[in-house]
Amino acid sequence: MSKKKKRREKKSPPPPITQGEKEATDRGTNIDKLLAQLSSLADNSRSFITGKSEDDEFDAIWKADIEALEQAISIISALQDEGIRDPEQVHDLIADYNAIADERRELYCKYEQPSLTISVCGQDFCLECRNPIRYQPRHCPRCGKRLNNEINPKRRKP
Ligand SMILES: [Zn+2]
Repeated sequence: MSKKKKRREKKSPPPPITQGEKEATDRGTNIDKLLAQLSSLADNSRSFITGKSEDDEFDAIWKADIEALEQAISIISALQDEGIRDPEQVHDLIADYNAIADERRELYCKYEQPSLTISVCGQDFCLECRNPIRYQPRHCPRCGKRLNNEINPKRRKP
């Protein structure tokens, strides 16, 4: 059996959306409607499960539908709890998060991951900005790059 034989009974088409409903949707209550609709679909699927052994195959299909709907409901509910109202907000939020994470990674590399200084004719220079370095500071006084003086014992401050 490859296709479901039982389908939801056709309901009469929904009434046209009123101005009030449209405004409610514009305000973002469409997530509540969506969750209610998904719950209703899950309930509907549940009503087709007979539990009879001759319906095992059909029951398995309905159970898979219910499981998928319940997962979708829990994902959408979690997004709603975080104040998400539409897919665009999800994209915005993730884009913001990634931008902040990238920025943080850059800051970490610059201020926390030490790099060696280069030495030319006995003068040390910051690899990042080529600023001359004296007295082995923890960070380059010009660009802030973390410097590693620990692995240059010769050049350690006397
Ligand atoms: Zn520097």
